[in-house]
Amino acid sequence: MADEREFDVVVIGGGAVGENVADRAGRTGLSVAIVEHALVGGECSYWACMPSKALLRPGAVLAAARAVPGARAAVDGDLDVEAVLARRDAITHRWDDSSQVDWVHGAGMTLLRGHARVDGPRHVVVTHEGTETSVRARAAVVLATGSEPVVPGIPGLAEIEPWTSRDATAVEHVPARLLVLGGGVVGVEMATAFADLGTQVTLVVRGGRLLGGAEAFAGEAVLASLRGLGVRVLLEADAEEFRRGDDGVEVRVRTATGQEQHVVDQVLVATGRRPRTRALGLESVGLEPGAPVEVDDALAATGVDDGWLFAVGDVTGRTGTTHQGKYDARVAGDVVAARFGTATEPGQPDADQERTAADWSRYRATADRRSVPQVVFSRPEVAWVGLTEQAARDAALEVRVLDYDLANLAGASVLSPDYAGRGRLVVDAARDVVVGATFVGPEVAELLHAATIAVVGEVPLQRLWHAVPSYPTLSEVWLRFLEVAGL
Ligand SMILES: Cc1cc2nc3c(=O)[nH]c(=O)nc-3n(C[C@H](O)[C@H](O)[C@H](O)COP(=O)(O)OP(=O)(O)OC[C@H]3O[C@@H](n4cnc5c(N)ncnc54)[C@H](O)[C@@H]3O)c2cc1C
Repeated sequence: MADEREFDVVVIGGGAVGENVADRAGRTGLSVAIVEHALVGGECSYWACMPSKALLRPGAVLAAARAVPGARAAVDGDLDVEAVLARRDAITHRWDDSSQVDWVHGAGMTLLRGHARVDGPRHVVVTHEGTETSVRARAAVVLATGSEPVVPGIPGLAEIEPWTSRDATAVEHVPARLLVLGGGVVGVEMATAFADLGTQVTLVVRGGRLLGGAEAFAGEAVLASLRGLGVRVLLEADAEEFRRGDDGVEVRVRTATGQEQHVVDQVLVATGRRPRTRALGLESVGLEPGAPVEVDDALAATGVDDGWLFAVGDVTGRTGTTHQGKYDARVAGDVVAARFGTATEPGQPDADQERTAADWSRYRATADRRSVPQVVFSRPEVAWVGLTEQAARDAALEVRVLDYDLANLAGASVLSPDYAGRGRLVVDAARDVVVGATFVGPEVAELLHAATIAVVGEVPLQRLWHAVPSYPTLSEVWLRFLEVAGL
């Protein structure tokens, strides 16, 4: 072992979530090291959220312009693919993490490049270019290693070297024909982006609908729109075999009506992700490699003595988005600062008894259970938070559903004469509070945070009546929901 280092806190993984927990934990004077084996900023900055949204935005803008008479005439021609990719390159800083490295140093933290593995309690070994460094954490180790795509074991799939979302978001040469496996968020967004870029896309979906976690009407709207974009969507379909042939990759697909043969240039696997815990030394502390790291609401790993191990972000399997992972990171960072630094936390003997439960609530990640927001940047956009109608019924709530056709809003007619969209509130009638909301339509993403506030704040419908939405905006759907409720 060539080198030995010691810090109060060691964060393994410098993605958005790892950066956040490190920053938060370090604010009260604890020394913090981040270990990163690829780019500081992680998937979100370079291969996920940012490049995917960069690829989707030009098509969305073009569609919005084409939907408005007066603007429509000014837009002719297709997207400039080279310019789209160049903008994506600018947004990913051409996969150069120097600005994020500067931020780490500016925040007074240490960056250790290399692959980290846990080697017993509070001990991490970092391997970089053949050299091992032993790193001791005086207080805590935080796992923020993210997730990795799952490639299903379908015959021939590994041999044809399919794309994962990393390859798709970093695409340099847009394929003429692309087959996408999976109808979840990543599959739907990438099918949209590549259809916009001129690719003939085939989307193979095992289930009977798209976006399985959302209200069914959301998946139906996206299905219709993808088909309108020329995407061949095969529902209840199974890709059974892949083979490289003379004209590209040959894919045998079983559908409800029989077998189909497709020939494409590229295959994108978007069939889910698993926590990145396989080469992390978890067995050295009694945890199972490959499994998600289970945590409590303070983000401390369960089943590990002395409370020195924390986990945040995709690695816990409890969240799958950057925003929710960063929420957990803020909680975990504050808990680490409280338990090992100068701050305090509820329940500790030195906790300030004057502070209320609300003051202390930010030390527990309670929003992970019932108020997780999700936006799909498909066309139409889909945005939801909290429970779907079915999930609320499964939770044995007294469910009341308020539906509204967004096309009836003055704000929608301003956006486009052909605006199509729908909103739904799921209300717990016993308490008269919103427990879930879903919006589908152009530009609904920005409607979501009002719903998130209503769900988290458990604002009674009677009180929401006094929150007056501006005219003419899509937010007037809130007033319409209340009118549907009889107010
Ligand atoms: C195509 C796509 C689009 C997405 N779009 C969105 C979106 O629009 N909005 C949204 O909120 N979410 C989106 N997500 C999800 C989002 O990307 C993840 O939830 C988020 O990146 C998780 O952050 P993380 O920090 O937990 O993990 P990561 O971003 O994966 O970061 C983990 C870091 O740890 C490093 N690492 C791993 N193991 C080790 C080790 N042993 N030693 C050293 N370093 C290690 C990795 O190199 C990586 O940098 C998208 C995902 C995909 C795939």
